[in-house]
Amino acid sequence: MAAVLVIGAGVAGLGSALALSQRGHQVVVVERDTTSVPDSPDAAFEQWERRGAPQVRHSHAFLARLRNLLRDRAPDVLQHLLEAGASEVRFVDQPPVTLEDRQPRPGDEDLVALACRRTTFEWVLRRDTLAAGNVRLVEASVDRLLSDGTGPGGVPNVVGVGWAGGGELRADLVIDASGVRSPLPRWLAAIDAAPVAEKEKDTGIVYSSRFYRLLAGQELPVQEGPVLGDLDYLKYAVFVGDNRTFSITFGLHAGDSELRQLLRPDPFTVAAESLPGLRPWIHPTRCEPITGVEVMARLVNRRRRFVNAGRPVATGIFAVGDSAICTNPLYGRGCSLAMVHAYLLADVLEEHPRDPMEAALAFAAVTRDEIEPWYTAAVAQDRQNRTGLDIPLRDDLPSDAPSSDDSLGDDEEQDQPVDAQTMRSIMRDGLLPAAGTDPIVYRAFLRAFNLLDQPNAIMADADVVGRVLAAWQMRDQRPPPPRLGPDREEMLRILLRAAAA
Ligand SMILES: Cc1cc2nc3c(=O)[nH]c(=O)nc-3n(C[C@H](O)[C@H](O)[C@H](O)COP(=O)(O)OP(=O)(O)OC[C@H]3O[C@@H](n4cnc5c(N)ncnc54)[C@H](O)[C@@H]3O)c2cc1C
Repeated sequence: MAAVLVIGAGVAGLGSALALSQRGHQVVVVERDTTSVPDSPDAAFEQWERRGAPQVRHSHAFLARLRNLLRDRAPDVLQHLLEAGASEVRFVDQPPVTLEDRQPRPGDEDLVALACRRTTFEWVLRRDTLAAGNVRLVEASVDRLLSDGTGPGGVPNVVGVGWAGGGELRADLVIDASGVRSPLPRWLAAIDAAPVAEKEKDTGIVYSSRFYRLLAGQELPVQEGPVLGDLDYLKYAVFVGDNRTFSITFGLHAGDSELRQLLRPDPFTVAAESLPGLRPWIHPTRCEPITGVEVMARLVNRRRRFVNAGRPVATGIFAVGDSAICTNPLYGRGCSLAMVHAYLLADVLEEHPRDPMEAALAFAAVTRDEIEPWYTAAVAQDRQNRTGLDIPLRDDLPSDAPSSDDSLGDDEEQDQPVDAQTMRSIMRDGLLPAAGTDPIVYRAFLRAFNLLDQPNAIMADADVVGRVLAAWQMRDQRPPPPRLGPDREEMLRILLRAAAA
């Protein structure tokens, strides 16, 4: 069994530690945030210092792919999440009222997501992972990789990590799970590894979330309008939490300076009250806010590749989760992908226990096949979302260094049989209405949304495509869908009036 060092105790790091400990490896997780684990989910939300992962106090969706992975490979963790207050969201138990055939179908048992706060998810995952006798946590902020020179393939071989003050730990292999701000390409360059091929695309959004708790005697509202909507200038969603909490999130365009006021509590509330889907949730007799408005900007889609011209840039080091592939949080996929990635790595290491070169190549291949398509999909979705809108966007951030690996073909610029504007119309005026009425499209949509199928699965299914296009061709014959809320000008007037009152 190997001695494994994991950098970062977020979802990817803990997931990796859990998956590897289940196979008997000895794991040390090194985490820069030094507060101890609080003793309850509420204390975790209120007190846990997580500067290294500030998104933990934003709304998080935990998709069916993640819930099913826990069900199948870590059932204790799933059970402990439910005991800590998380709930399972069975999509097909509450189908849209417009769905033509509401009978259950095979596979429906997989269409179940998890609802809880991100801090609760991580609290349970950390406790369960550390409860395994073969996982230990060390508090330190890693600042370098240790290498013993070139390994068998003539590339640097990583044998440990170091941190400020001279601390070092050695291991058979190192996993970087230090999140979206991981400096792994720089650490690798410092041990003379070949450049990492990196692509980064600005999402162009700012994310703002506020959490609420139900007052005594109150329950979640019977939903009257959609809890998730896209007004073009503003995206919104409600997330059910655990222990009588829920949260509301707005995604607004980073360049929209007039709407930036939504990042303050009063305008945030006024905007939420103006949306029929949100109004019943935040009535002051129902709940009270338990946070201010949490804000995160400079959100990116990014992918890194660690194989250069058919050779890994280094052996003994693996990047998992956001450190490797990071996607727009709007789509709610990051934790699911991080956990899936962690288990894929454990599988690869089981298959290649003694050949670091083969393990590196196999992990790169499986990452490219299973995880990277979601980066490509997120970039394409972002492009569709921006189509027709006048949204200032930071230029694509500079790539660290392109490498010949990029010549393998890329991703988001290819395979666009239809232009973005038409695609957006097909999604909005074909897929969404069809998913509301046709049981086959409904399930295909839910499976894609929950990462149960690859992102191109809908477009690859001739039956589903036929149904979507039929709905799209009828778009002018249908009455317009109910308004989700005010348009942008109206919203600005509402905010102005409220500010003057
Ligand atoms: C605003 C926002 C909303 C999101 N919403 C969702 C959602 O709804 N659903 C979803 O699935 N995903 C969502 N995501 C994405 C999700 O949060 C990430 O994909 C996920 O956290 C990735 O896990 P990770 O372990 O790779 O990184 P992280 O969870 O960020 O963990 C990285 C860990 O590494 C530690 N670390 C960093 N540097 C060092 C170092 N040098 N030494 C030691 N430790 C270090 C950090 O302290 C941290 O604990 C959202 C993200 C954002 C920003």
